[in-house]
Amino acid sequence: MAYQAEYIWIDGTEPSPLLRSKTKIVADGQPLPVWSFDGSSTNQATGDASDCMLHPVFTCPDPIRGRDNVLVLCEVYNGRDSKPHRTNTRAAAVKAAKKYAKHEMIFGIEQEYTFLKLDGTPLGFPNGGFPEPQGKYYCGVGAGRVAAREIIEEHTQACLDAGLMIEGTNAEVMPGQWEFQIGAADALTVSDHLMVARWLLHRIAEDYDVVVSFDAKPAKGNWNGAGAHTNFSTRAMREDKDMKAIKAACEAIGKKIDLHVKNYGHDIESRLTGAHETAPYNKFSYGVSNRGASIRIPGQVEIAGRGYAEDRRPNANCDPYTVTRLIKETVCSAAE
Ligand code: ADP
Ligand code: MN
Ligand code: MN
Ligand code: MN
Repeated sequence: MAYQAEYIWIDGTEPSPLLRSKTKIVADGQPLPVWSFDGSSTNQATGDASDCMLHPVFTCPDPIRGRDNVLVLCEVYNGRDSKPHRTNTRAAAVKAAKKYAKHEMIFGIEQEYTFLKLDGTPLGFPNGGFPEPQGKYYCGVGAGRVAAREIIEEHTQACLDAGLMIEGTNAEVMPGQWEFQIGAADALTVSDHLMVARWLLHRIAEDYDVVVSFDAKPAKGNWNGAGAHTNFSTRAMREDKDMKAIKAACEAIGKKIDLHVKNYGHDIESRLTGAHETAPYNKFSYGVSNRGASIRIPGQVEIAGRGYAEDRRPNANCDPYTVTRLIKETVCSAAE
């Protein structure tokens, strides 16, 4: 029987791209074709040369439609010269994956996000006012402490049904803020799964008239921002016994502060202030168990002498293809 394929792609909206998708009916037994879309409606082309092309790169079962239906994550290519579109950051990630394959890097990304009402107020904030200060919300339970758990339940099960590498979820420090983790896997897998998990979150919350915001600082003032802590390891970092490879990786990243921070998501300066469990965006530090450092080395990693490190700086609205590529290029080129 014919089935529905939801073609998902990343658009050209500035300063932070949005996800788009459209449905193709595919005849039974037919492969997924390359498909075109109107790039002039997504800030990816001009009206006089509007065709852009969707190239399927990752497919999984569609947990919302069920049956034989699928979700299809795509890379965007130019219609005219069939080169990767300027918004296609995955193409560069594929090149970096090949170049540094021997380091066997793996990543785990902690995606934080904030639920908003349709008027833009965070869920759990009273209209025109503020809830009680932060303290009781992180990993909380009970009315008045957490909001919209039904969406989290539905989203987590949907990710599992789709076969995504979701690892866990938790309510965050600010009301209406939540997190899920994806990994640990190679950069392309973790980024592809993360993009589909983001799409599923938007799609499920849509049924509740709830907006999903990946803004770095959705509520100004004394409220935590939203990040995407990126945990990473090379084979050497995982197999060492003396922390040497982990320290070398941190030192290498510390030499390229601007390159990383500029590419870790829009409005990072508002989030990385030095308060609210962050380090200032323009200073670099790393430390064991330190949630006020740019890079944290988990306590148990120091005890074992090997494992991974956590770059705490990427924003919730970051591009995972670019963040993982930069960490990979910086860490691996320094190790060669
Ligand atoms: P916390 O909130 O304490 O920072 P989480 O449990 O939310 O920690 O996330 C830990 C992340 O670390 C997960 O995404 C997991 O995949 C990742 N991780 C664990 N081991 C490794 C490793 N060896 N290499 C890369 N990432 C790892
Ligand atoms: Mn976490
Ligand atoms: Mn968190
Ligand atoms: Mn973390």
